[in-house]
Amino acid sequence: MHAPLHPSDGVVISGALQIAPHLSRDAMDLLQAIAAASLRPAVDDTPSALVDQLAPGHPDGPSPWVSCPEGCCLDMNDDTYIRIDAIEPWLSYLVGTLLVDHSFSGALMFWDCAERTFSALVIDGTRVCRKPVLRRRDRTRGQRARALRPIESV
Ligand SMILES: [Zn+2]
Repeated sequence: MHAPLHPSDGVVISGALQIAPHLSRDAMDLLQAIAAASLRPAVDDTPSALVDQLAPGHPDGPSPWVSCPEGCCLDMNDDTYIRIDAIEPWLSYLVGTLLVDHSFSGALMFWDCAERTFSALVIDGTRVCRKPVLRRRDRTRGQRARALRPIESV
C-alpha cells in the first residue's frame, strides 16, 4: 500500500490492512462502486441516490476504501476529495457490514504533523479502534519547564 499524504490535513498515513479470506470479485467490485458513487457527489456537489442504495446508512463523504488487485488487502484511494475524517467512519462502516465475514490484520499509522502524535488504526473483530502510539515528547518537556519556572524565579 502506498502512503497517501494529505498536506491540507497535515496527516501522513502509512501501513496496510490485510484481509482473510481474500475478497471475492463481487466484493472488490462493490467496494470500487461505493468509492466511485460516493466520490461523485463530492466532486459535482450533487446528491447520489446510488451510494445510498449501495451502502445504506453510510457515513458522509467519499469512501476512500478499495481493494488491492488481488483482494488480499484494503487500499486507500488518495483522491484529493477524500477527507481525512472520512477514513475511520467508512472503515468502521465497511467492516461492520460488507466485510463482516472477513478478518483483518495489520494497522494503519497516522502521523499528525500539527499535533506531533502517532496513532494506529486497527480492526478488532468488526470494530475499528484507534490507539495512541507515541505521545508528544516536547509537550511533556514544556509542561515540566513551565512547572519549574516559578521555582527558578524564587
Ligand atoms: Zn493485497
